[in-house]
Amino acid sequence: MECIFCNINDRKSEAEIIFEDEHILAFLDIQPVNYGHTLVIPKKHYDNFLTVPKDELDKITHATQFIAGVVKRSLNADGFNIISNNGQSAGQSVFHFHFHIIPRFKNDFSLRPAVKNYTSGAMHEYGNKIRSILSKYKDIYNG
Ligand code: AMP
Ligand code: ZN
Repeated sequence: MECIFCNINDRKSEAEIIFEDEHILAFLDIQPVNYGHTLVIPKKHYDNFLTVPKDELDKITHATQFIAGVVKRSLNADGFNIISNNGQSAGQSVFHFHFHIIPRFKNDFSLRPAVKNYTSGAMHEYGNKIRSILSKYKDIYNG
């Protein structure tokens, strides 16, 4: 299947690449929230966060931390968002896993979603829902 990020990695499509190593590639987002908005991708194709093997994820996370620091410092940003959209409903538009690094400046924050409030007992219900599945998957977490 055609993937724009694989094409960028294979140099079949152009991008403003800022860093790469054996495992990851970082380049500027073509439609930045702020200038310098950077994407970090694994060189291998994985659809989303849940399908990236742990050792690869460790490398991507490590690189993202490093690059976020560099982006912040180089642009004199006040802060940054690290975002990963997973699934169409979450806003994912390129189905090759990536972290967004978005440099932020004083008073430019407009990403805050509308928040909900739990009705009485509902928070505990949601806790139970998540914990009941969690107990089935614990072995995966423990390796
Ligand atoms: P997401 O919507 O979280 O999947 O993020 C995909 C991001 O990739 C969007 O912010 C796009 O602007 C960006 N994007 C799409 N095509 C390109 C491209 N050819 N070069 C750089 N960034 C791109
Ligand atoms: Zn890909």
